[in-house]
Amino acid sequence: MSIYKLAVIIKNPLNDEEFLVVKQIRPRKFGIEEYDSFIDSDLWDFPSVHLKMLQGESEIQVEGAELCSAKLDLKKFDLSLALNQVSEQVRVERLVEGQWKFWKFVEEPEFGPAPPIHTVFITAYYGFDDKSSDVACQWISWSNCSKRLSEVTPDSYRMGPLVVNGFPHDSKHSKWDVPRYLNYQEYPLGVRLVPMRSRTGKPFSTTNLVVIAPQFVANSESDKNFIAHGDALIIDPGCRAQSHQELADIIAALPRKLIVFVTHHHADHVDGLSAIQKCNPDAILLAHKYTMHRIVKDDWSLGYTSVAGGEEINVRGQRLQVISALGHTDGHMALLHINTHTLIVGDHCVGQGSAVLDAFSGGNMGEYFNTTYKFLELSPNALIPMHGRVNLWPKHMLCRYLKNRRDRESSILNAIEHGSTTLFDIVSTLYKDIDRALWYVAASNVRLHVEHLAQQHKLPEVFSLETHSVAAFGDELSKL
Ligand SMILES: [Zn+2]
Repeated sequence: MSIYKLAVIIKNPLNDEEFLVVKQIRPRKFGIEEYDSFIDSDLWDFPSVHLKMLQGESEIQVEGAELCSAKLDLKKFDLSLALNQVSEQVRVERLVEGQWKFWKFVEEPEFGPAPPIHTVFITAYYGFDDKSSDVACQWISWSNCSKRLSEVTPDSYRMGPLVVNGFPHDSKHSKWDVPRYLNYQEYPLGVRLVPMRSRTGKPFSTTNLVVIAPQFVANSESDKNFIAHGDALIIDPGCRAQSHQELADIIAALPRKLIVFVTHHHADHVDGLSAIQKCNPDAILLAHKYTMHRIVKDDWSLGYTSVAGGEEINVRGQRLQVISALGHTDGHMALLHINTHTLIVGDHCVGQGSAVLDAFSGGNMGEYFNTTYKFLELSPNALIPMHGRVNLWPKHMLCRYLKNRRDRESSILNAIEHGSTTLFDIVSTLYKDIDRALWYVAASNVRLHVEHLAQQHKLPEVFSLETHSVAAFGDELSKL
């Protein structure tokens, strides 16, 4: 099952270089001042709508639609409805009829767990220019757009993924690229995400391999001290053994001077290291020392460079800053891509649902909250999790995480105040409607919440942390 979307590149009749972008609708506010005070900057993108299937055949002719007919039959969709909805978005009566042209069909890779969204791009014209005073739409040229995509400062206005995907950059001339047979997504510009099959936890089945391989050398500041220099960088090679050949093909297509960064030691983030070591033993591995201590010699037996946060990496002039991001584990690190001000967050957040902390590897709820606030202060333009899609409203997402954690913590405290004396009591009360297979993972998070409550001196005096061990929980669970 796939979902299809129509994106329309509306050209300016007075200037062929320009097209229309629309201010994207923000996620709904929380209604709580503390969270609503964090505001993501405006996001602009092509007007787009989801396509609905039609009973008969669409009468709207799109010139060149046959170019994508092997993958998609546009006639089966209600284009008339879609184009009317686009007209509403850009607030015009009607687009000029009969001038639709097929531009591109872009298939989204399977980030999961939701079905992929494939996008048909068409170009259209619009009768006259009265958009100069419209606050929700604006004309922008390709060259201006390219500048806004490659150098993004914190809180500047942002261009969305449809613009990057519809962008007429010719990747045929790219020297370094991910092999064509692997579907990847590029967003932001210059950052490629390849979801690869991995031994990750439900509901996901892939780990995003992040690939940064700039075509050109950017001007870099020579006075900076970098922890590593390279021509390309990959983050979290976590694919399972069956996908090692795919990873080897990616490594073969990248320059030899390669930096490998791992956010933390979990198998679904490091399972591919052995394949890298085999095909490029010159690769420089960067990780926190606690992460490295937990990586087995079979995966990586060569040297590594230890990072603890604050260091900078230089990839052909593009800079990335290592950010200490403790909470998920005690060695968990994130990376900030400075050129696009994008934050690669490891497992601190996931594309859908909420992240799990690892109580057995130094996971810590207090640190998790601190890291979340640190991320908010960085004011990133986009947030890349290792599982699921890129998040385009980072501050909103981080606040949602804060809110969910606090809500969970108060329900745990409530259960304790109402007589729960063991971890099992709490989990079986709070997660009674959830599949029992997930209870053990939940127990690890609940234990960390209980420790966090204890640190804040919120627990009743008679309360014992000992009866709240994950091991005791496991014993009780096995008796069921
Ligand atoms: Zn993890």
